[in-house]
Amino acid sequence: MGSLSLTEKPHAICVPYPAQGHMNPMLKLAKILHYKGFHITFVNTEFNHKRLLKSRGLDSLNALPSFQFETIPDGLPESNIDATQDIPSLTASIQKHCLAPFRNLLLKLNDTSSSHVPPVTCIVSDGVMSFTLDVAAELGIPDVLFWTTSACGFMGYAQYRHLIEKGLTPLKDESYLTNGHLDTIIDWIPGMKGIRLRDLPSFVTTTDRDDIMLNSAMFETERAQRASAIILNTFDALEHEVLEGLSTMYPSICSIGPLQLLVNQIPDNNYKLIESNLWKEKERCIEWLDKREPNSVVYVNFGSITIMTSNQLIEFAWGLANSKQAFLWIIRPDLVSGDSAVLSPKFLEETKERGLLANWCSQEEVLSHPSIGGFLTHSGWNSTLESVCGGVPMISWPFFAEQQTNCRYTCIEWGIGMEIVSDAKRVEIESLVRELMAGEKGQKLKKKAIEWKKLTEEATGPTGSSFVNLDKIINQVLLAST
Ligand code: UDP
Repeated sequence: MGSLSLTEKPHAICVPYPAQGHMNPMLKLAKILHYKGFHITFVNTEFNHKRLLKSRGLDSLNALPSFQFETIPDGLPESNIDATQDIPSLTASIQKHCLAPFRNLLLKLNDTSSSHVPPVTCIVSDGVMSFTLDVAAELGIPDVLFWTTSACGFMGYAQYRHLIEKGLTPLKDESYLTNGHLDTIIDWIPGMKGIRLRDLPSFVTTTDRDDIMLNSAMFETERAQRASAIILNTFDALEHEVLEGLSTMYPSICSIGPLQLLVNQIPDNNYKLIESNLWKEKERCIEWLDKREPNSVVYVNFGSITIMTSNQLIEFAWGLANSKQAFLWIIRPDLVSGDSAVLSPKFLEETKERGLLANWCSQEEVLSHPSIGGFLTHSGWNSTLESVCGGVPMISWPFFAEQQTNCRYTCIEWGIGMEIVSDAKRVEIESLVRELMAGEKGQKLKKKAIEWKKLTEEATGPTGSSFVNLDKIINQVLLAST
């Protein structure tokens, strides 16, 4: 396919939701499609494009021929590009404002009098950017929706209407957060056993019937029925039962992950030059890890969106210090609400020999480093999958969205994690970190994590389920109209 002429080349337009955990897997998929011969247009919001230019520079975005970036506005008022965007406002704004600029972008790309790229032949869009379905229908081209959640998370969102109809959400009032209601067992979801209301994506805990996230998830999972296919960054062995359950509701759904292992099969190093990290990573993390013993460091990172109070930060700090384990702790500049993170000189002095603090790191590299023995995580789906790929067991402190569901599956179904059940209390953190790094349970979790790691390799090998599924999506759906 590499030698196709410009007009023959298929052209995929890739539209991630504008947040780190969505851009990363979409970029991986875009690289794979490019390697397979597609011309790629990767669409960022103007806001994130400015951030990428700041963190990565223009060269990174121009590293590959036939791989171009375009932008559309997210509809929000201009704001400081160093500030994290508010997810509910961003989600509502996208649904209201992005269709028209996206349609105009496609018209521009397809205008043969001015455009120097082949006409757009297919759309690959984030599951929560489903306005793209309308443009695909107008142009008569396929639109594959990429839900960047776990299958169990997606299944949770897809139940929101039933949960509302059964009166389980929204909560009648705040007392329902603590009166046992959240422990209700939900026993009617296909492919899910023993799940409690509290394990479903966190927007079920709202008391507001008009909650943006509750309604948006319901809207988007229903719109997903219109997709040419739905793809998930997971693998069959890990989520077999939920995937089977989902396929009774969405016949075209399939698993194509972990994409990080598929993209790593591309031999051309130029692909590594294009990156989607919105923060600039500290290089010395890997150098520091190189000097530590195998399996000796606990890695602590709560992803790109989690916000905590300064009190929770202090509890994590002392939990880590008192565990006496070595740690690499990433503290984003905006991790702590209302303030920047402040750690006491006493904590810094006590941990200076065995702790490294940084703002951001190259997480995939960290999680595949032999010195990492455990991961204290917020259970974002990318982080969870990256940990599974690295064979690293986890301590889970879910923050929001489907992280609650990922935590449940990590700890109960996959046997590779332990949950922090207190509101981040130092004593519990200390004891879980000790157990993970030096206890018997930790050993058991590590062994299981290594087994899952092997299965990620099988799924992405030449006859593996994800490898075969991705090939099918490319040949039978994305190339169907060319
Ligand atoms: N990430 C990273 N360095 C960091 C923190 C996060 O590279 O210091 C990446 C991480 O590898 C993952 C993504 O950012 O791919 C975070 O996605 P996830 O779904 O885990 O959580 P979210 O940020 O969406 O809550």
